[in-house]
Amino acid sequence: ATEVRLASRPEGAPTLDNFEVAEVDVPKAGPGQILVRNTWLSVDPYMRGRMSAAKSYVTPFEVGKVMDGGAIGEVVESNADGVAVGDVVLHGLGWRTHAVLEPARVRVLDPEAAPVEAHLSVLGMPGLTAYAGLFDVAGMREGDTVFVSGAAGAVGSLVGQLAKLRGAKRVVGSAGSAEKVRWLREDLGFDAAFNYKDAPVREQLKEAAPDGVDVYFDNVGGEHLEAAISALNVHGRIAVCGMISQYNATEPTPAPRNLAQIIGKRFTMRGFLVGDHEHLRPAFLDEVSPLVREGRIAYTETVVTGIERAPHAFLDLLSGGNTGKMLVRL
Ligand code: NDP
Repeated sequence: ATEVRLASRPEGAPTLDNFEVAEVDVPKAGPGQILVRNTWLSVDPYMRGRMSAAKSYVTPFEVGKVMDGGAIGEVVESNADGVAVGDVVLHGLGWRTHAVLEPARVRVLDPEAAPVEAHLSVLGMPGLTAYAGLFDVAGMREGDTVFVSGAAGAVGSLVGQLAKLRGAKRVVGSAGSAEKVRWLREDLGFDAAFNYKDAPVREQLKEAAPDGVDVYFDNVGGEHLEAAISALNVHGRIAVCGMISQYNATEPTPAPRNLAQIIGKRFTMRGFLVGDHEHLRPAFLDEVSPLVREGRIAYTETVVTGIERAPHAFLDLLSGGNTGKMLVRL
């Protein structure tokens, strides 16, 4: 068996030296437990926060210990009722090839209903994040103009499509390459999209949304947030999902310099955690699963193969190497 450990805490951007790939014995399932052989691992931006010692909403990874995160695998040994050998399960012990779990900590998946790895992307945590953030947190309504940053990623690509399907007047996305921008416009049906590296976000957003923005779904923070505040219409709403442009910062980052516009524009800005919106999961799956099945929602995954390449996948995710969800296939 193989596992990935946190070797050291990064200062600024993480590097491969912060990880250690180690060979270990295959663990044994004890009484009431199952042994899972992982087939898919998720790497996610929130893991950058867990590499630091600072206290946040998730516990930090421990130096020298195996990391964890979303994963899918096949049950190869079961001493538990209700989970059988051969079942495919979703669970939280990623970053390793083999995991021992209690059945209460896994969800058995139906491999017939959808490709199982979709439960780590469009039908899983990132999908629910998009749904909850757009509808529950930002209260997106028909006729709104919606702007989403990180638009070619796992969360952002679904935000834009859901907004279109629910009758947004205009959907605008930003991403970090010409190919991603093309994908948003031509394959996902965004009305406008731009590469934030080409010119100041503020200028490009103004051109892409000449009548202003009603809902901003923030995945990036920093310059994007400031530009969105400037473009926001009166009574606009900002759902703050992530601020990936600041995750490697070594100094406190400045607030948006134009925050005072919150008064005149009477806009709301609300941060959220997907974990608080678990109650929406049934509605989310009822609405989104058929759309995915019928091909009315497009999704894509960037797949890296091999546990030893999981750190590369994670570093690549942070620097925009992914289109759609970044996954590791074992
Ligand atoms: P993505 O698939 O969007 O991958 C991250 C993307 O961020 C990269 O592909 C890259 O794309 C972009 N990026 C990296 N650095 C920068 C930068 N400096 N400026 C602008 N873009 C950058 O990840 P997810 O969809 O999983 O997550 C998206 C956001 O949602 C993250 O901020 C994450 O932390 C947050 N999140 C929050 C949750 C919550 O409960 N609040 C739950 C899940 C995710 P590009 O090429 O465009 O630069």
